Amino acid sequence: MTTIETLQKIKDYYEKIRDIWQRLEHLEKLPTQLEELQMRIAKLEDRLKSRLGEACIHCGELAVRVVDTSPAGNGKSFHHLKCNACGFEHKRVVLPTGN
Ligand SMILES: [Zn+2]
Repeated sequence: MTTIETLQKIKDYYEKIRDIWQRLEHLEKLPTQLEELQMRIAKLEDRLKSRLGEACIHCGELAVRVVDTSPAGNGKSFHHLKCNACGFEHKRVVLPTGN
């Protein structure tokens, strides 16, 4: 083996070691990145839960939202509800809060 070939082999080994080292550095960061992702997913799940609607009495999906309100007299109000899954609509009388 010539000197040039030996130097080339040393250079090849050096590059392989450097590549492995970079991968190890990347692996070392993974637990922290995984923990950050788990926290972000938990926050998104919480936000998603708060965005779910009430259960639809027609289809059962958690997709019922108040789409409008109107006065019903004596401090009560009507909530106009609509299911975003099946389109079922109905009204509900709501008592004033604090009573
Ligand atoms: Zn429905």
